[in-house]
Amino acid sequence: MAGVDLIHLLPDSVANQIAAGEVIQRPASVVKELVENSVDAGATIIQVRLTDAGRTNIQVIDNGQGMSDTDARMSFERHATSKITNPDDLFALHTFGFRGEALASIAAVAQVELRTRRAEDELGTVIHIAGSRIESQEVEMCPVGTNFQVKNLFFNVPARRKFLKSNQTELNNVMAELERVALVHPEIAFMLYHNEVELLNVPQATMRQRIQHLFGKKLGQELLSVEVDTTLVKVEGCVGVPESARKKGAHCFFFVNGRYMRHPYFHKAVMEAYAHLIPSGEQVPYFLYFTVEPSRIDVNIHPTKTEIKFEDEQAIWQILMASVREVLGRSNMAPSIDFDVADCPDIPVASMGSMPLPPKPTVDGSYNPFKQQETPTYQRPSFNWEELYRGVEGSAVGREIRFEDTTPMDDLLWGEMPICKESSVEEKEEDVLLAPAPQEKNTDYYQFKGRYIVTSMKSGLMMVDQHRAHVRVLYQRYLTQLSEHHSASQGLLFPEMLTLPMKHAVMMEGLLDDFASLGFDISNMGGGSFAIQGVPVGIEGLDPAALVEHILVDAIEKGDVLKEEIHRTMALTMARSAAIVVGQVLTVGEMSKLIDELFACEMPTYTPDGKKVFVIVDEDEILKWFK
Ligand code: ADP
Ligand code: MG
Repeated sequence: MAGVDLIHLLPDSVANQIAAGEVIQRPASVVKELVENSVDAGATIIQVRLTDAGRTNIQVIDNGQGMSDTDARMSFERHATSKITNPDDLFALHTFGFRGEALASIAAVAQVELRTRRAEDELGTVIHIAGSRIESQEVEMCPVGTNFQVKNLFFNVPARRKFLKSNQTELNNVMAELERVALVHPEIAFMLYHNEVELLNVPQATMRQRIQHLFGKKLGQELLSVEVDTTLVKVEGCVGVPESARKKGAHCFFFVNGRYMRHPYFHKAVMEAYAHLIPSGEQVPYFLYFTVEPSRIDVNIHPTKTEIKFEDEQAIWQILMASVREVLGRSNMAPSIDFDVADCPDIPVASMGSMPLPPKPTVDGSYNPFKQQETPTYQRPSFNWEELYRGVEGSAVGREIRFEDTTPMDDLLWGEMPICKESSVEEKEEDVLLAPAPQEKNTDYYQFKGRYIVTSMKSGLMMVDQHRAHVRVLYQRYLTQLSEHHSASQGLLFPEMLTLPMKHAVMMEGLLDDFASLGFDISNMGGGSFAIQGVPVGIEGLDPAALVEHILVDAIEKGDVLKEEIHRTMALTMARSAAIVVGQVLTVGEMSKLIDELFACEMPTYTPDGKKVFVIVDEDEILKWFK
């Protein structure tokens, strides 16, 4: 049967409109495409002006390189781009754009005016185009750079117009797109006006200043620098201190090769680094910039998708987690860090190469807390942490800390508080008055309200929560025991029996080795019964059966997770139970020992569950009080 052929090519205007459906969904997509073009054009100032959240008018003005009259016209053609020529270029992208479809798409669904001029041209070009139809092209005087005005978005696609959300939502989307570009290009100034009101005005700046300008000074001060360079990936940027954690709305940004990306898997890696430093479920802000070989990621992604596939995802996960963790460990002695001053905390910190060894679970049998001692008899950790106490001028590296001298000043300061002091009691007033000059003075510890250890240090006065400090110390000790399978156990005269429901008994059997590592000697008697014959040294006064059950239940609650996670839970429960309590009176020797051990920990600043262990009041602050 003869007939007519049915297939024909769609007119450009229709094809472009269909393509536009993919690229341009809302005002924010227009802003994104135009602003990215301005960045690609080498602009140093980019201004965005919106009316009605961009529904009626979106204007993007830049001072970039501009276009010739032919290029201006060409720029609206589909697949017209100046940015790539060969297929190979796709794997070495250094621009945002490369598809050459944004302008064609925008012009298909809006009324567009383009004014542009290159520096070398005397006059510029003005083009009007609407629904893919060029309406006019003229030569006119205009400034160097490009000025796009996009009016009545979706004027010819009413269905699309209806899908737009409230002005606030559309505006938020625009802001989010601008933030993403602004975070990659701090060298460019950005301005955003909505109905003539200035919403954003960030000057040219450094990366860190840009973050502050966008999200506030406070956040800027809560960030720690991350930098790691491996053959697979280079990661730079910063992450928040544990204190910056919040339940919702943390600013989390990943970028890869200068593009924003969403990456839930890598997000988990960052959060994993904070495990036991922040309350679970909370998030920490981060701004992390990845650089990878372009051929190792999927660049040919959908124009509006922000997920990016990496070839070496698992390895990068590990690198990311480890480097964030390292940064947290390295910086944990600086309670507040002002990055405007320097990236290094004021307090000397052990370098990663000489990270202190975790304290060994050795018990010093000769140590009697009730006997006064000249010097503590325990093995000092190899870490030179008394550097912290060094007077500004004095050189006390490696010096043993002694406890003899207190000046009357100290008595005045602390005399009325319930303080536990040592050694100074026998000293006569005159001797004390002749005490050495302050910079040679040795360290004193005071216990305040049976709860805090107060001591002076280089940069001010430090207050340590004794219970939390001990939790941190024990946690690390137990974790080490669990991973190295060594323990110090002491036998019980009368074994304690523990009877468990079947479900718990099964779990218990699986954890017997771990309990042994902690110092528990437990035998399975069958039928859900267990005999506890030995307990860890140092938990005197605790009910062993209750403690074992408590640890077990906490571990079960963790569910079917990594052994490492279960170890952390066990160590934490154990540490919490065994740590010295509030109200326990400590001798100076005990305080000194605890503080030494605390600062030998990888992360002394917070307890494993994210509570602050110590606070330092800056000397400047103290001086201010006495003004
Ligand atoms: P792409 O960015 O993928 O190349 P676009 O459709 O966004 O595609 O832009 C098409 C071309 O128009 C660009 O390759 C560029 O040459 C030119 N162009 C677009 N915007 C600007 C601008 N603000 N300044 C200078 N040239 C521009
Ligand atoms: Mg583009």
